Amino acid sequence: MSEQVVYLEGAYVPLSEAKIPVMDHGLLYGDGIFEGIRAYGGRVFRLDDHMKRFQAAARAINLELPLSIEEITSIVLESCRRNDIVDGYVRLVCTRGADGLGLYPKPGSAKPRLFCIAGQVALYSDEAYKRGLKVITSHLRRNKATIVDPQIKSLNYLNNILASIEAHRYGADEALMLNEEGVVTECTGDNIFIVKNGVISTPPVWLGTLDGITRQAVIRIAREMGYEMNETPFTHFNVLNADEAFLTGTAAEIIALTELDGQKIGSGVAGEVTMKLLAAFRDYTKKPENGAKI
Ligand SMILES: *Cc1c(COP(=O)(O)O)cnc(C)c1O
Repeated sequence: MSEQVVYLEGAYVPLSEAKIPVMDHGLLYGDGIFEGIRAYGGRVFRLDDHMKRFQAAARAINLELPLSIEEITSIVLESCRRNDIVDGYVRLVCTRGADGLGLYPKPGSAKPRLFCIAGQVALYSDEAYKRGLKVITSHLRRNKATIVDPQIKSLNYLNNILASIEAHRYGADEALMLNEEGVVTECTGDNIFIVKNGVISTPPVWLGTLDGITRQAVIRIAREMGYEMNETPFTHFNVLNADEAFLTGTAAEIIALTELDGQKIGSGVAGEVTMKLLAAFRDYTKKPENGAKI
């Protein structure tokens, strides 16, 4: 197989040559934004939604994207084409660019740097989808919206990385993150849903949650399937006592949470509602109207 090519600031270069200068603010300070995007069957899933979120994140951190959204959309599709992606994963990143060692990015001085990596997706096995994930509750609270709003998919992910390290230290796959009030927000890279007496709930985004594209799709699909689906706050108690709980994200899709802090959730394996939603979600990813043609 030929080497992966990466879009970097106007050119498509081999992965091994795609390098960022050490003075980049993205590296020095985590100053930038990203998107994780999935391609299914030769189409980029919900690309417009990803582009809108990317644009919103840029605004939120006062970053002027170096190209128009139409041009960036074309770059995502072209990156897939050049890497023969039919089913795959795309990482789109824009950093502040290089502007000395100081914190303050002087207007007109730093030139934002855009890059796009299209490659393969690391998939969970069918077995993992049935077994579900082990999750622990992190001692780290999710960033407050008044500090760095978790709605921004920023390069500043230390909050999430530290919680993920904590989870793996305890032999778990993911960490549940609460906000300062002890209310459930999400996991380190996935949104959370619970099912109780047939009613599905997920935290509202203003609690300190990233508004996942998968989350949005699951809300829509669950309602179409006739489930009562609420965006409502809940606590650790509600997850622990749920009939089912599951996580959603671009890479994971929909995966059961079957153990929390060493205690089984529901039956201890992926529940019926979770598996039905996963099947419905996979059908949804196959619909031409949900993807931009590569
Ligand atoms: C990306 C991400 C998610 C999931 O969002 P998707 O758009 O569904 O991939 C959830 N939480 C965090 C913190 C994330 O970064």
